[in-house]
Amino acid sequence: MKLILLGPPGAGKGTQAKQLLGLLGIPQISTGDMLRAAIANETALGMEAKEYMDAGKLVPDEVVVGLVKDRISKSDCSSGFMLDGFPRTVPQAEALESALNEDGKKIDNVVLIDVEDDELVGRITGRRSCGACGAIYHLIFSPPPKEDTCACGAGGLIQRADDNEETVRQRLSAYHQQTAPLVDFYRDRGVLKAIDGTKKTPGEVFNKIKYELQLES
Ligand code: AMP
Repeated sequence: MKLILLGPPGAGKGTQAKQLLGLLGIPQISTGDMLRAAIANETALGMEAKEYMDAGKLVPDEVVVGLVKDRISKSDCSSGFMLDGFPRTVPQAEALESALNEDGKKIDNVVLIDVEDDELVGRITGRRSCGACGAIYHLIFSPPPKEDTCACGAGGLIQRADDNEETVRQRLSAYHQQTAPLVDFYRDRGVLKAIDGTKKTPGEVFNKIKYELQLES
């Protein structure tokens, strides 16, 4: 299955992707994670991306399109993949569509997790993740078993540099202006499955995704 997880920042795309990973056995491809890795490795691409990310703006299309095209051509993507945080603009979606078309492939499903802006700000500013295994927590809604320590035992919890309120508001504005048009883009192609994630637990959203994708009863 070739699947896209679409939705505003903080909607739970990464959390759901990690759940789906166990069920579908296809790789999760997160452009945000790839860009953060490039920053950590201090590559030229990472340094360019950092300026946009710190400002809550989207990284230029050609940068992320290149990363994704390269990633989905790897052998572990031959039976499918899950895109988390890509595409985020119509030109990105068009570039993905033509890259897949060249190989006679297409996106099978796009799961939209929609959440109201007011709830997203609280969700994102309370978000923490494990520096070692990547597990995601929320200080109030999904706290770690022991303060500041991941259940894996190996990592301390960190807050993303762009998870502060000012940057979050800018990211939400980028979502509404540049990413929301993808809802119609994929609805027109008959692959959109829309889920209302407002005031829902991760478990409730996961059950809805499984239902929409007919993965389990
Ligand atoms: P995320 O981890 O998906 O919330 O992404 C964090 C940041 O990385 C975003 O606010 C953007 O600055 C950048 N980013 C991630 N994916 C993309 C994308 N597909 N297009 C442009 N910028 C992206």
